[in-house]
Amino acid sequence: MYKEVRSIKLKLREGKNKSVYLTDPGFFGDDVIMAFSTRFGGHSLSPYNSLNLSYLSGDEYKNVLKNRISFLEALNIDVFAGVLAGQVHGDRIEFVKEKISEFGILLPGVSVENTDGLITTSKNLPLVGTFADCVPLFFYDNVKKVVAISHAGWRGTKENIAKKTIDNIIKETGGKVSDIKVIIGPSIGSCCYEVGAELHDAFKDYSFYENICRVKNQRLYLDLWLANSIQLEQAGVLSENILVSEICTHCNNDFFFSYRKEKGNTGRMMGLIKII
Ligand SMILES: [Zn+2]
Repeated sequence: MYKEVRSIKLKLREGKNKSVYLTDPGFFGDDVIMAFSTRFGGHSLSPYNSLNLSYLSGDEYKNVLKNRISFLEALNIDVFAGVLAGQVHGDRIEFVKEKISEFGILLPGVSVENTDGLITTSKNLPLVGTFADCVPLFFYDNVKKVVAISHAGWRGTKENIAKKTIDNIIKETGGKVSDIKVIIGPSIGSCCYEVGAELHDAFKDYSFYENICRVKNQRLYLDLWLANSIQLEQAGVLSENILVSEICTHCNNDFFFSYRKEKGNTGRMMGLIKII
């Protein structure tokens, strides 16, 4: 079992409206838009400054609405397209064919409920999740033309949402796991993800326990990037098809919202993937 992740250097881009995001430098190819927002270029005030994309953070409605429009416009995406995962730190994956609101993801309270992973083969249907330290997983199979996004915090990782997303992609499309590529996006790294003993215990029966549960200066840390990389490989994804951005949202709190660093009083980024 390997002990290091393979990294991808996501590209930094700024939309005409100043919204700043990271995007795939070409690993997925030209048929897909993959993006992860930063906290720059939005309308929200502290502590949501400025591109907060979640209505559930406590921010003002009008600012989040403007920010969501800005982010989508920065990507040249139809602002009324898109579908958002409800995200409950579970492991349920939903295959979606169309948006669930005529306004896409613009309005509050509209999401695919009780779902932490979305899959689609539909064009013009951006799949969206919100993140602030939890691990975003972006999937693409360029043979079956299917994309997916999953939300893997420690609970999702414990439930192996990475493998469940892969299994669902194959079930829905009949594709081959060797055709699936995955990017593990910006999230809290093992450098900063200090945890209690109960979280180490939660993984004690896993084959990769010793790889992901670290001890430094008598403090305990968890490596969710490596955990998800290993789970993807164990699910059959080729190791060269799994890349990690290796950007820690906690280390780079000036650039990203970090739930941990800001003690929950912060905004959320969006991860988005779409077939062109
Ligand atoms: Zn860090």
